[in-house]
Amino acid sequence: MCIFCKIVEGQIPSNKIFENDDFLAFHDLYPKAPIHILVIPKKHVVCFQEVTAEMMAGMTPFIQEVATLTGIDKSGYRLIVNNGEDGGQEVHHLHFHVLGGGKLRFEHLTDETHKSL
Ligand code: AMP
Repeated sequence: MCIFCKIVEGQIPSNKIFENDDFLAFHDLYPKAPIHILVIPKKHVVCFQEVTAEMMAGMTPFIQEVATLTGIDKSGYRLIVNNGEDGGQEVHHLHFHVLGGGKLRFEHLTDETHKSL
């Protein structure tokens, strides 16, 4: 069982913010911003590339509610989904990073040069 499935099952503790039947929001253990929340589906989905439109239809209002509950809905926030190896995904259970609580820098560094597609 993956680490986030263990959090869903309560086998590993987490600092939960909000949940419903399908999704769970909890604080990231190593925050990269004043507010850094992870939103996950309770059902194991490996990555964004594998998520269904149906699941995303539920995920969207859930994330909006999390932003409202944590008071960053008006001030603004950033959503990040690291997908796969090049995207830097370390936990292979789909999660949205919700970052806010201060003005965020924008850095997406790579040693490779830009490719025109
Ligand atoms: P990613 O690199 O997109 O896969 O991000 C994984 C995130 O999960 C990182 O920001 C970690 O700090 C976070 N993380 C890993 N283990 C835990 C945990 N037990 N509770 C909360 N956050 C975690």
